[in-house]
Amino acid sequence: MEPFERFILNTMTSIEKLKFLKEEQVRSLAKEFGTPLFVYSQSQIEQKCDEAKAFPNAFGVQVRYAMKANPNSNILKIMKQKGILIDASSEHEVKRALHFGFTPEEIMLTSQEFPKDFKNIISSGVKFNVCSLRQLQAYGEAFPGGSISIRFNPGLGSGHTKKTDVGGVTSSFGIWHEKLNEVKSLVQKYNLNVEKVHTHIGSGSDPEVWKAVAHYTLEYAEAFPSVTVVSLGGGYKVGRMEDEKSTDLQKIGAPVKILFEDFAKKHNRKLILEIEPGTYLVALCGSLITSVDDKVDTGPKGFTFLKLDTGMDSNTRPSLYGSKHPLVTVKQKPSDTSPKTTEYVVVGHCCESGDVFTQKEGGEPMTRVMGESEIGDYVVMEGVGAYCSSMSTKNYNSFPETPEVLVSNTGEFKLIRKKQTIEEIYKNEILVL
Ligand SMILES: *Cc1c(COP(=O)(O)O)cnc(C)c1O
Repeated sequence: MEPFERFILNTMTSIEKLKFLKEEQVRSLAKEFGTPLFVYSQSQIEQKCDEAKAFPNAFGVQVRYAMKANPNSNILKIMKQKGILIDASSEHEVKRALHFGFTPEEIMLTSQEFPKDFKNIISSGVKFNVCSLRQLQAYGEAFPGGSISIRFNPGLGSGHTKKTDVGGVTSSFGIWHEKLNEVKSLVQKYNLNVEKVHTHIGSGSDPEVWKAVAHYTLEYAEAFPSVTVVSLGGGYKVGRMEDEKSTDLQKIGAPVKILFEDFAKKHNRKLILEIEPGTYLVALCGSLITSVDDKVDTGPKGFTFLKLDTGMDSNTRPSLYGSKHPLVTVKQKPSDTSPKTTEYVVVGHCCESGDVFTQKEGGEPMTRVMGESEIGDYVVMEGVGAYCSSMSTKNYNSFPETPEVLVSNTGEFKLIRKKQTIEEIYKNEILVL
């Protein structure tokens, strides 16, 4: 094969494909709702829920959805219907989950910030995962004799990037594992019932590190004989790009199941496993339909830039972590099926030099080989179901919040969040001059 042919073949195979939408659907969604538009698939989410519920386990598994990944009420409802519980990361998420039908008992709060409305939330029955000695002390004072979960920092972590790693000495999440004695004395002082121990070491973590952490977490369960549930958090890596691998839950779960069985033999305690995925349940179930707004270049030694009609105000992951999302060209006209590919630097619409969808972790722009796109064509950004709508730099440049559509199990497109109006953007301001 000639080198040139091989080059063509390589670039052809590296071209990303649509995940769950069909080209005709992209065009009709864009016409009906405009762009940019988030689109989620109910059936895809339900399938992921079933996979999580089938996580290998020795004595039962319960799944919590880390709702910070995507808190739209319809997605919460799908989780509820699937019997999935809630991992809330702030008191506000607790209130949101309660509002949309979860009972307090179905929610566990794992919060960096001590809840300001602590007493009311906990008295209502919401479960509390203590994340620091200060939180443990405060819980003990308010609810002596109460039942808690304790989050430990096991001393090692793993994330897709340093910014998503939440274990080890560089992380403030959870109680440092060497403080076990201080934990024990507070537990004793307030006569607390430790019913669960918890670790969560990062998002997109290495399966090997994850398994090692499972081992440590069982040591914390050993330290507290009252523990009946062991939560291993979330963090299952999901491959968004064709060449990135997704975690096989069956594969990483199998050795963990054995650890639980061994624990039962040794200590005569049958522990229930809990997992808390966010990414895994929704990341691949969302697409962002955008339009090419402009195309500029910086000369023969420079780049060709594709400007989309969205930006970090709908997906900030590339600018925050250098994350890659598939970018799939869908021609505006169905008859235009030119298979040509080109290299672009794809940028967002915000007046911010970091608003680049194709960049390295550190910010250097990268080119992406993708289908040739003209102004008015669509570019579908894939893998945007988690930490995009929920984590964007919403309203920067006063761009309105991106609307969301759900493709229901009957194939209908249902608007589940309206596009924000300009008045909504400034409605909380008080003009005093
Ligand atoms: C964010 C978070 C999760 C979910 O992490 P993913 O990487 O989205 O699976 C689970 N547990 C806790 C405590 C979290 O903060």
